[in-house]
Amino acid sequence: MKSQEQADLLGGGSHTLLVIAHPDDEAMFFAPTVLGLARLRHRVFLLCFSAGNYYNQGEIRKRELLQSCDVLGIPPSSVMIIDNRDFPDDPCVQWNTEHVASILLQHIEVNSINLVVTFDAGGVSGHSNHVALYAAVRTLHSEGKLPKGFPVLTLQSVSVLRKYLSLLDLPFSLLGTCDVLFVLTSKEVTRAKPPVPYYDPCEAMLVESIPQGLDFPNASTGDPSTSQAWLGLLTGAHSSLDIVSFYLTLTNNNIHTWEPFVQELIDPSI
Ligand SMILES: [Zn+2]
Repeated sequence: MKSQEQADLLGGGSHTLLVIAHPDDEAMFFAPTVLGLARLRHRVFLLCFSAGNYYNQGEIRKRELLQSCDVLGIPPSSVMIIDNRDFPDDPCVQWNTEHVASILLQHIEVNSINLVVTFDAGGVSGHSNHVALYAAVRTLHSEGKLPKGFPVLTLQSVSVLRKYLSLLDLPFSLLGTCDVLFVLTSKEVTRAKPPVPYYDPCEAMLVESIPQGLDFPNASTGDPSTSQAWLGLLTGAHSSLDIVSFYLTLTNNNIHTWEPFVQELIDPSI
């Protein structure tokens, strides 16, 4: 992408649509992107294609999504949750690409969207519902239903193991040339997580991928580099460094891999 196009893309006043499959995708995969776009004065809309009813908790998860969006600065009026049996929260069901695409296009037109952010072909976690969103955007693009040059940014998938390593992934990301990482300020970390009372002085850094092609202008983030974040946490720890992983235990059973590295992580003798 040319620098002028990049500047136009990131200019204030843009209407950006984040397209997700389930409540919690916005927090698990896109929180740094949303906060970064808000900082650049983008108006962010969110379109969620399911209520996340896999465990029959759809109503709870819909409410949680609205609360999460509120924390991320997306008002309820800019959030659309599709609760339709055509799009079940189920990795074993293939959503109809044309159907997803037509709803998506309608949402783009009604809200004068000029930038779409969603998953890539790998769906980040490999979930077929995530992949269906990418397929729909591709269809719209290939059928010429999006305006010429309409920008679509996708989150780059990494291996499942790396995705859920959280901070442990930093050394891998530093080695990669394609990854774009965005480190939140401690203030934004507070916004991305519900406030929890604690009395120990501790520091937290949330590190997450942002879509390929989305390079925030210099100094607009004002954050340390990933290496500085990693080293800062290591050198600043007085007694311990806790690493938190979203709902997974990082065991081979959970992440469906038999990497020796995973075994080392849980081996108390190491
Ligand atoms: Zn999801």
